[in-house]
Amino acid sequence: MSDDLATWLTAQIDAAEARTRDLLAKTQRNDLAVKEPRLLGRYIPGWHDWPDVERVCTERLAELDAARRILDLHPNAGLRSAPESCGSCASYPGPCDTLRLLALPHAGQPGYRDEWRPQ
Ligand SMILES: [Zn+2]
Repeated sequence: MSDDLATWLTAQIDAAEARTRDLLAKTQRNDLAVKEPRLLGRYIPGWHDWPDVERVCTERLAELDAARRILDLHPNAGLRSAPESCGSCASYPGPCDTLRLLALPHAGQPGYRDEWRPQ
């Protein structure tokens, strides 16, 4: 069961990173498009939003990288039987609080189990 959470969470992080990188690429293309010399000086609705979207995407990618690094600290998927992973690994049977909390933002995705909710 605990291995399933780590595997599922890794898949969620992979999918979130792919979506974020796709949005970042679109954002950068749009930002370049509105800087086209023929468009300079003209009103383009939303043009000023692209740098903000780019910043949010960059922050999201950093958060996902941090989540991966935290997962890497759990070679045994946060099992209570392997309390060397992190301070909360030994909190109760099953995945530790750290992995449960990392998974929580993805709870709306298919495959999430209520038993993984932090206690
Ligand atoms: Zn842990």
